[in-house]
Amino acid sequence: MNIGFIGLGIMGRPMAKNLLKAGHKLVVYDKFAPLDDVVAAGAAAGSSNRDTASKSDLVITMLPNSPHVKEAILGKDGVLEGIKPGSIVVDMSSIAPAASQEVGAALKAKGIPFLDAPVSGGEPKAVDGTLAIMVGGDQATFDKVKPVLDKLGASVILVGGVGAGNTTKLANQIIVALNIAAVSEAFVLSTKAGVNPQAVFDAIKGGLAGSTVMNAKIPMILEGNFKPGFRIDLHIKDLQNALDTAHSLNVPIPLTASVMETLQALKADGDGPSDHSAIAKHYEKLAKIQVRK
Ligand code: NAD
Repeated sequence: MNIGFIGLGIMGRPMAKNLLKAGHKLVVYDKFAPLDDVVAAGAAAGSSNRDTASKSDLVITMLPNSPHVKEAILGKDGVLEGIKPGSIVVDMSSIAPAASQEVGAALKAKGIPFLDAPVSGGEPKAVDGTLAIMVGGDQATFDKVKPVLDKLGASVILVGGVGAGNTTKLANQIIVALNIAAVSEAFVLSTKAGVNPQAVFDAIKGGLAGSTVMNAKIPMILEGNFKPGFRIDLHIKDLQNALDTAHSLNVPIPLTASVMETLQALKADGDGPSDHSAIAKHYEKLAKIQVRK
């Protein structure tokens, strides 16, 4: 199976390399980022999204947000113009579910099956090939593509029709953002009350308050290390998609709206490029104390 891989950013680059390591033939393309190291690892270089699609049985995209995916697939010189009958498109970007459905419908009109398959786990799991992949689409297309996705992820789950993958990813991003905010608020309080934050972490991590988020982010907060990881700017993008989706369904999500304003305040302070563990800095500023070792 020839695979076209579009979008060689923080996530796409190691994912493409894992597919090469697994023995797949790859054509790669990125509108802005260099292709050299992936070509050196064995991929062919595409000259546009259209050209890449024309040489592929399966096209995978890993792009920032809905407008980029729509441009790359539906736009001029895009995937839709080049794709061959019988090929499949899988978008692994985190975008609005409505945008996934729009792209899926345009491809379906040309007889091309589509899956939305966003991921959780960040760069380390993209490198290890152990991402959590949540997929929207039909069972038959999922079954055809799953052996390829298994090379990228430790868990690959079909959650529903097209758009359901990104709806699941929005749920994931709400839970992660609110969890970091809750951890930040709690640790600022306990630190200001005079209790050692490392001791608080050790005491509660095995109980009901323990979480993968707390295990990953408290060590960073205690070190004052806010190097990304997952950038505040990207989490703003995801929470905006969550708010838009919720409001289109008449669902109020007040806690998400509140954390969104925290992220906006951090962005205004120059922390857009920081890791989302920097949510703690906002609470530290409010209470005039730092949660450090
Ligand atoms: P990134 O910005 O590093 O990479 C995106 C790439 O897409 C860039 O190299 C850019 O040049 C390319 N691009 C943009 N528009 C294009 C177009 N029209 N045609 C071709 N290429 C184009 O982003 P990333 O961190 O790799 O994230 C990709 C997606 O994965 C995002 O939706 C993000 O939310 C999601 N995600 C990221 C992480 C993470 O930790 N970084 C974790 C989980 C999910």
